[in-house]
Amino acid sequence: MKKADVIIIGAGAAGLMCAIEAGKRNRKVVVLEQANKPGKKILMSGGGRCNFTNYHIKPENYISHNPHFCKSALTRYTQWDFIDLVKKHHIPFHEKTLGQLFCDDKSQAILNMLLLECEEVGVEIYLNTKIEKIEKESNHHFKIMSNRNDFHCESLVIATGGLSIPTMGSSPFGYKIAEQFDIPVWPTRAGLVPFTLDAKEKEKLSELSGVSVDALVSNKHIRFRENILFTHRGLSGPAILQISSYWQSDETVTINLLPEINAFEMLKSEKKLQPKKQLKTIMADYLPKRVVDIFLEMTIAEKTMADISHQQLEEISNVLNTWLLQPNGTEGYRTAEVTLGGVDCDSLSSKTMSVITIPGLFFIGEVVDVTGWLGGYNFQWAWSSGWAAGQEV
Ligand SMILES: Cc1cc2nc3c(=O)[nH]c(=O)nc-3n(C[C@H](O)[C@H](O)[C@H](O)COP(=O)(O)OP(=O)(O)OC[C@H]3O[C@@H](n4cnc5c(N)ncnc54)[C@H](O)[C@@H]3O)c2cc1C
Repeated sequence: MKKADVIIIGAGAAGLMCAIEAGKRNRKVVVLEQANKPGKKILMSGGGRCNFTNYHIKPENYISHNPHFCKSALTRYTQWDFIDLVKKHHIPFHEKTLGQLFCDDKSQAILNMLLLECEEVGVEIYLNTKIEKIEKESNHHFKIMSNRNDFHCESLVIATGGLSIPTMGSSPFGYKIAEQFDIPVWPTRAGLVPFTLDAKEKEKLSELSGVSVDALVSNKHIRFRENILFTHRGLSGPAILQISSYWQSDETVTINLLPEINAFEMLKSEKKLQPKKQLKTIMADYLPKRVVDIFLEMTIAEKTMADISHQQLEEISNVLNTWLLQPNGTEGYRTAEVTLGGVDCDSLSSKTMSVITIPGLFFIGEVVDVTGWLGGYNFQWAWSSGWAAGQEV
């Protein structure tokens, strides 16, 4: 039996941050990780450059059944605190777009930083560890049985993340532990995930695979102005990933392919100014040629502006400004960046991340029902919630 003050299950972003903070308080910390390496998602994140936080972190950038829950942790350990840590380790970084901060070099730098901080405060990390059973003892301590050892601790932190990318070793472990302790879990689903289309729509758009367009994508809840990317399976790109987290199946999504332009006014004015030009020539100034070819019927696209009626211009404008897309689903956890839903926030203290009814048990990071936007928001939640628990465990 190995004894520790704190056992953290999951050596991902949240678990490592919690370990560092608890270690700084001279707590004896052991991290148990099922994989053969810590922080695998950190390594693959941000296209290999880890979008580790965002300059514009706000509670509004998070989705949860309790939208207030994330406020405490996010304001106590902010993006500026994490940026200071990154600077302390001389890791070069840059803002890519919309406040998103990426490493100049590889994500490995962020993981190395966390592991070094862990080492400095004596955190022990056990890899390839399969947890078999967790029990709460009468003295309020926890017993953790694994393929390696039995462990014993005062504080147990579940930092096992969500369900996205099963090939990376993601598991429903955290939700199962919540159930074991009668903690409610909101149904989970894939978030920040590409849309798939029905066969007919997919075929229509197939020639656009690889084309990216700046667009305004909206539904009845929210709108995102970023690129959309046509793929051979459907639609992806940042604006699509963002809206996917707010999308319910059967819902229609509105895509404005000319977000800066009232297409009808523009086309009427072009008709006046350049009546002899073909519609497709006019449109080539506004959208990639391949998009024009697919979205406008050839018989009309080849007409001169003078030959196109106002009604037809209006119909064309509707296609361009309000393309109504009906996804038939998403690519699911296979490619999703995050998992929506999870451990019910109302069961946790927002200050410490501990389970209100079970002293000593904590949930942090993505396993909790807090899901960030694309752009460094999810890592910031992992850092902030991990930090908050680290002050208490
Ligand atoms: C492809 C991809 C790219 C991403 N890019 C970004 C980005 O650039 N910026 C951003 O903010 N977010 C990004 N995310 C989201 C971000 O990676 C997660 O939100 C974040 O890693 C969550 O941290 P976590 O510590 O809660 O979980 P994780 O980082 O997933 O860590 C959980 C850990 O627990 C371990 N574990 C699971 N089950 C068990 C078990 N039973 N026993 C022991 N250990 C277990 C896992 O192996 C893992 O190491 C990306 C996600 C993906 C999939």
